[in-house]
Amino acid sequence: MFDLVVKGGTLPDGRVADIGISGDRIAAVDDLSGAEAAEVIDATGDLVSPPFVDPHFQMDATLSYGIPRINASGTLLEGIALWDELKQEMTPDEVRDRALTYCDWAVSMGLLAIRSHVDTCDNRLLGVEVLLDVRETVKPYLDLQLVAFPQDGLLRDPSALENTRRALDMGLDVVGGIPHFERTMAQGAESVRILCEWAAERGLPVDMHCDETGDPMSRHIETLVHETVRLGLQGRVAGSHLTSMHSMENYYVSKLLPLIAEAEIAAIPNPLINIVIQGRHETFPKRRGLTRVKEMQAAGIEVGRGQDCVRDPWYSLGTADMLDVAFMGLHVAQMTHPDEMRRCFDMVTEVNARIMGIDDYGLGVGCAASLVVLDAGDPIEALRLRAPRLAVVSKGRVVARRSRGDAALTLPGRPGRVTRRHYPDLRQESRRRPFAAGPRHLVAAAMERMRRIRR
Ligand SMILES: [Zn+2]
Repeated sequence: MFDLVVKGGTLPDGRVADIGISGDRIAAVDDLSGAEAAEVIDATGDLVSPPFVDPHFQMDATLSYGIPRINASGTLLEGIALWDELKQEMTPDEVRDRALTYCDWAVSMGLLAIRSHVDTCDNRLLGVEVLLDVRETVKPYLDLQLVAFPQDGLLRDPSALENTRRALDMGLDVVGGIPHFERTMAQGAESVRILCEWAAERGLPVDMHCDETGDPMSRHIETLVHETVRLGLQGRVAGSHLTSMHSMENYYVSKLLPLIAEAEIAAIPNPLINIVIQGRHETFPKRRGLTRVKEMQAAGIEVGRGQDCVRDPWYSLGTADMLDVAFMGLHVAQMTHPDEMRRCFDMVTEVNARIMGIDDYGLGVGCAASLVVLDAGDPIEALRLRAPRLAVVSKGRVVARRSRGDAALTLPGRPGRVTRRHYPDLRQESRRRPFAAGPRHLVAAAMERMRRIRR
């Protein structure tokens, strides 16, 4: 007897299976017809995925768009100045309300783990205090990791050293930084050294905003590599953004990528904010500032994708949908081969989970019973449609439901409903295939037919 069975869904790897849940764990992944369950979700023909994960967010600033004014230039620097104005006047209740509202949005979109940076350049440490409280509040349904982030520069801001240390003492999970915003290249490198030493002493991971600029001479990633290896931090360091790599000289990048791989540093580009905020100082041709995703992957570097901002001083849009992030990332990095598109889906699920170090993640027996049922046949279709999340299960409990994305049509001679799903719709009885014939099999057959036609 299971507490919950999710029936007949297609897993991201193409297998079709039932998932049996007992308590907060996945107890079986198999053909469970005949098994008893207190609750059943029929996912026949729908994609069942482990939850979405966002390894880079700014939750202390989220949903504050327009307060006290908007970012007129659209630049990173005006965003930081605007955030500083907002920081002076925001209250704990406002920050808490906005953060919890965002977490509700996230849960509704199947986004169940978030790593958020929290500004530590504030004598009140208001954001730190509030988000530590929010972390506990959402713990039963959402994993929130908090990064100590000296937004105004660890050495540039006179009180940042002390306040960032205090914030880490209060129980933040990860050490952050912003070397490209320090006053000089040398101070940027010095900040990386200090922060990595703190991480080594405290046994914490590192995740820095690193080289978030179009300046190809911003090379703090090489210092991050050096400190990671010197201090033995391999496997627990991430470089967020890395946009300067877009503009670096190719020879230098060919030297840099193997060093990043050797240090086991993960990369977290943030395609929505990178595409909108980089290149603002240019005419044409205009660099777009997304880091070298495919090249890093080819070098064996783990590359995730983050959302970074939703309705805040830097970014006016955003919906807590990691499929939007993957969709933009797919376009800007030109990842259009079917293998690459599937990889884009993996990047906002499995890869991001590995970067955040979530060890009970996935759809295997014994993993946390957290999953999403999507109105799509497979990961590529989920991306194309930014598909509705029909059901979200977190730690064994159904926490969100949504109806399908079908539209009613009133055209003479045309069907009454349209779904925009393109793979055979397994909800129609006549087209239902046996378990072995998942959508991936159907795609392979369709591609073979296409090849024959071209010949
Ligand atoms: Zn950020």
